[in-house]
Amino acid sequence: AAKALPYGVQLFHPALESRAVRRLGLAADLRRALDSGELEVHFQPKVTIQDRHLIGVECLARWQHPAHGEVSPEDFIAVAEHTGQLHRLTEVVLTAGLRHCREWADAGRPLSIAVNLSARTLLDPRFPDQVHELLKQYRVPAGQVTFEISEPSMLGEIERALPTLYRLRDLGVRLSVDDFGTGASSLSYLRQLPVHEVKIDDSFVQGMATDSGDLAIVRAVIGLSREFGLTVVAEGVESELTFDLLDELGCEIGQGYFFSRPLPVERLNTWLSAQTE
Ligand code: C2E
Ligand code: CA
Ligand code: CA
Ligand code: CA
Repeated sequence: AAKALPYGVQLFHPALESRAVRRLGLAADLRRALDSGELEVHFQPKVTIQDRHLIGVECLARWQHPAHGEVSPEDFIAVAEHTGQLHRLTEVVLTAGLRHCREWADAGRPLSIAVNLSARTLLDPRFPDQVHELLKQYRVPAGQVTFEISEPSMLGEIERALPTLYRLRDLGVRLSVDDFGTGASSLSYLRQLPVHEVKIDDSFVQGMATDSGDLAIVRAVIGLSREFGLTVVAEGVESELTFDLLDELGCEIGQGYFFSRPLPVERLNTWLSAQTE
């Protein structure tokens, strides 16, 4: 067994180092990818649990690097955050989402879109005006757009982020607390934040079929969200058993591989036409 290290001594960790170095090297490539359309957006269906009706899609960034292959969103979002490109990334994803949202509406199949925000984006006072401009440009009603903000990312930022959250809410867009339950102060956030939706973290959803603790958490979050008048979404629904349990608990909306993986837009459109037949 490894001996305990004296305080202050750190082990050199090659895996961590190479990851950091790789991230640095990716900064310039990401800039190019954001400008050239190399950074793509995939869409994952959000489905009503009761009748499996498709109501919207979450927009998820995808990057196929010409030399390194697929880079995980965790990695390139960290690169974007550390190199001042996060704003541009959000703009690229939101613009792609709105463009398709307009197309689906024009084709007689309106769908809502959900876009992920980092809490840091909420510290930019110009962001709500830009959202307003883009909504006008693509003629998308604000109520069809949800912004998902990860609960852990809000830690310590919430006071400063609140004014932006209120301005976004006043625009009419919907706000969702993502990865709910994984932060440090979940319950107090629900009381404090001007949000419309809670997204139960996939770790609890995936555990609920086998772990009574996870099941209890999911049940409690659904009950609490109801009390607060919030929409509940379960993410990471992978099995029929989980789906049935969520149905019994009265969860309204689900998302996960059980319904569909995130898809490129052409494949989503095929999926859509199969669903409406
Ligand atoms: P997230 O917002 O929690 O997104 C859901 C993640 O779960 C996605 O991973 C999705 O592919 C995956 N997922 C969906 N259904 C299932 C399932 O049934 N089982 C399992 N095991 N996984 C499922 P992905 O695409 O790798 O994204 C990871 C995270 O990266 C996202 O987590 C989100 O926080 C962030 N992200 C992705 N795109 C963007 C973006 O455009 N902007 C920002 N700020 N963050 C983004
Ligand atoms: Ca999300
Ligand atoms: Ca999530
Ligand atoms: Ca999650």
